[in-house]
Amino acid sequence: MKENIIPHSYQISVDDRKKLNQHNSFLLWFTGLSGSGKSTIANVVEQELHKKGVKTYTLDGDNIRKGINKDLTFAPEDRTENIRRISEISALMVDAGIVVLAAFVSPYKKDRISIKNVVKDVNFVEIYINTSVEECERRDVKGLYKKARAGEIKNMTGISSPYEEPDNPAIEIKTEERTVEDAVAEIMQYIAPKLKQNNE
Ligand code: ADP
Repeated sequence: MKENIIPHSYQISVDDRKKLNQHNSFLLWFTGLSGSGKSTIANVVEQELHKKGVKTYTLDGDNIRKGINKDLTFAPEDRTENIRRISEISALMVDAGIVVLAAFVSPYKKDRISIKNVVKDVNFVEIYINTSVEECERRDVKGLYKKARAGEIKNMTGISSPYEEPDNPAIEIKTEERTVEDAVAEIMQYIAPKLKQNNE
């Protein structure tokens, strides 16, 4: 089957789309424990970008796990497949000229490295939302930690499943020491030159 897939050469390129949008496209990947603050921070970053006229889209558990990945569990091999599909979707969106924000626990280092390979290094901005498991459990935004402690949830990252910290994230935010506004300002400052088209 594969040998019969011959790519068609389309006339509109990613550069044409970026030119039309007047900004670059790339992927902001937020990783960290459940309740660490990924969605909260990504949401404000997206609003700031939107205000600047940047075309954005946010991928998260809500729009991915309920749709395209609804067949996947939280077992290790399914977590890897979850991230693989998200990275392919992100790559298409980056190719479409969009700044993609993705907020996923993504606990395994090898999976995050494979995202970087799929979307290409230059398009991948790894943002580690570093909040201790104690603080995440105290916040328990979705009540998941309580359920995990009660044994109702297996494979809960930070409790019964590992989280592998990034070695060298582009940005690291320690939310116990920073406000959301402060975190957003740092991220906006980091991506400002990346948004400019002639920066590649
Ligand atoms: P995640 O998307 O990582 O699962 P959420 O963003 O849903 O986490 O939840 C994080 C919770 O922590 C929110 O209720 C948010 O208001 C709270 N919070 C407190 N301080 C911070 C901070 N400095 N940065 C981000 N979130 C914070």
